[in-house]
Amino acid sequence: MTLGSTVPFNRVLAAGEEIRYLQAAVEGGHVSGAGPYTSRCEQALNEITGSEQTLLTTSCTHALEMACHLLDLGPGDEVVVPSFTFVSTAAAVAMRGAVPVFADIRDDTLGLDERLLDRAWSERTKAIILVHYAGVGCEMEEISQWASDRGIDLVEDNAHGLFGSYRARPLGSFGALSTLSFHETKNLSCGEGGALQINRADLVDRAEVLREKGTDRSAFLRGRVDKYRWIDLGSSWLPSDMLAAFLWAQIERRTVLQAQRQAIWAAYAHRLAPWLKERGFRTLEPPADRRHPAHLFWIMAPSPRERDRLLQHLRSLGVQAVFHYVPLHSSPAGRRLGRSPGSLDVTERVSASLLRLPLWAGMTEAMIDQVVSAVLAFR
Ligand SMILES: *Cc1c(COP(=O)(O)O)cnc(C)c1O
Repeated sequence: MTLGSTVPFNRVLAAGEEIRYLQAAVEGGHVSGAGPYTSRCEQALNEITGSEQTLLTTSCTHALEMACHLLDLGPGDEVVVPSFTFVSTAAAVAMRGAVPVFADIRDDTLGLDERLLDRAWSERTKAIILVHYAGVGCEMEEISQWASDRGIDLVEDNAHGLFGSYRARPLGSFGALSTLSFHETKNLSCGEGGALQINRADLVDRAEVLREKGTDRSAFLRGRVDKYRWIDLGSSWLPSDMLAAFLWAQIERRTVLQAQRQAIWAAYAHRLAPWLKERGFRTLEPPADRRHPAHLFWIMAPSPRERDRLLQHLRSLGVQAVFHYVPLHSSPAGRRLGRSPGSLDVTERVSASLLRLPLWAGMTEAMIDQVVSAVLAFR
């Protein structure tokens, strides 16, 4: 191990045609949104998840805001969300004046615990927004059934789950709406970006209007109307075609990028397995009916104190491991804007005991060795 060399937690590997396509977008003269690269990305993402329509957006956060708007959420409505997630899952609900209701997670998949949905339900429940944590599908059969029995809409915050599947069906294809992130920490990236994936045909036209500042510009560009007008609420959630050009290069190389991630994930799992067991630590044991896209590699410590010690130890050896998430139900805005029926023990325990190792396409063998040796050297 070379002293002083650091393994960053995350990097975006632009080893394909990213820069060439970016230049082509500029030279082609169409750098605003809805250009040729945007169409290519949207088409490919439709094919990957089997969605009716994908709309690229400026972020996953914005796609979640669009989803909440399309479901007409408003004051008085409640939406069940996990507390163990990034803020946007709940913030998008609160932005509409609706109340996020925090539910606990399962301690195996770290996804929403389907057994606790009854406890979170009320007469005001309008939707569930779930997260496939680490790209491991939630219990989709039970959750979909529960939601459809009660006429409740399902949204997938699929920021971790692109290329994942549950019983051979792509994640992102279960909800009426699903969202993706292309932030620099995600499997495919253009720095900042996202997508709304629409699985219900009746929501497509409104979603296009919403993304185009409330105008029917999309229909106009397709020649369906002869001028474009302000017809509904909307905002500016359309990314530049320059970002789409960068993203297109990543989508084109998805097989290579995914294979690299899978290999790193498998190397960690294999080389750390005996150590984890011996020390009372654990990691994901993927359920047999699910494929996960190696979005992240987590380690759960036997206690918060051991987690903090391991984190310090790794950092002292130049390994940028991180932890997340600060539970939303106990955060200042979560308390003020949300509701928590019952305790969220698993969320609290996981949040205090979990850490993530560096994992990104482009990590060298030497970096992987450095991470593994650093973990094994922990006493
Ligand atoms: C990254 C992430 C988001 C936010 O994505 P942005 O594109 O940065 O807005 C939302 N939800 C989850 C679960 C995420 O991991």
